Amino acid sequence: MIRDVVVSEVGPRDGLQSIRQVMPTAAKLRWIAALAAAGLPEIEVGSFVSLRLLPQMADAAEVVAASVKLPDVDILALAPNLKGAERAFAAGVHRVSMPVSASRLHSQSNINMTPELAVEQVAAVVALRDSLPPGHLPGRGRPGVEVGISTAFGCTLEGPVAEDWVIALAGMLAKAGADTINLSDTTGMGNPAQVRRLFRRLRSEVGVKAGGAHLHNTRGQGLANVVAALDVGVTTFDSSQGGIGGCPYAPGATGNIVTEDLVFLLEAMGLRTGIDIDKLIAARDRVREGVPGESMYGHVPDAGLPRGFVAATVKAAP
Ligand code: ZN
Repeated sequence: MIRDVVVSEVGPRDGLQSIRQVMPTAAKLRWIAALAAAGLPEIEVGSFVSLRLLPQMADAAEVVAASVKLPDVDILALAPNLKGAERAFAAGVHRVSMPVSASRLHSQSNINMTPELAVEQVAAVVALRDSLPPGHLPGRGRPGVEVGISTAFGCTLEGPVAEDWVIALAGMLAKAGADTINLSDTTGMGNPAQVRRLFRRLRSEVGVKAGGAHLHNTRGQGLANVVAALDVGVTTFDSSQGGIGGCPYAPGATGNIVTEDLVFLLEAMGLRTGIDIDKLIAARDRVREGVPGESMYGHVPDAGLPRGFVAATVKAAP
């Protein structure tokens, strides 16, 4: 499967952790399987945080252990610290994603640590990963460690976040051994000019460790920001089915960009995602079953595909 762009589904983590309803484990697994069957190459399925803080994520180990058996999909989980990463590695996760906030106030309220201490946690997790046996994941080796710099484009608690600091933090994370460093617009404050500037600077600071964009659509700028990131060579985007999601510690920040609309945008632009849009839209039923009555968004699911539309992935198929 040739993919020009990797769409990384974060709904089962970012989406579910920000709503009150708890999706039952069996329903999560049906949803994740439907997403994988639609061709999503990466799915972030849970978060290894304190059960007291996020009861929605209490079954993370069980969900990871079942999801890694699905074929042709990378299974990610969020781990804010060494303790979380230990649990994630034990469950057999393919990659952990660690949030490190550029905003000091957000960092304190989200993971109860300064950004500098969060960088030390990343170094500790990398050391733990490197100590795992080379055959830890059959056929895959050791798990990956990626970091998302949250509030990279601004913070609801702190306001603007200095770009020089975001880039300096990325440099510290690269030195700490993170495989990939992503930038997150946790609170939906970014604009396309800023997205171009920061991703260009990220690339020149950390080279091949420069990762993808985690964008929220809080102020309707999500897809414009995607196009801006594409312009400067970003090829991985996080999104959530139906746009569910947000950040419970950043008041007013709701809604990842919608996977269905993102995939349509990319495919319409001739960029292959490897995703079957019809199967992706059908997977919304699994969300409705799992968390009945929860709001879902998406212009493409509402309006339907345009008459005569052929996805780039379909055109390229032999
Ligand atoms: Zn998010």
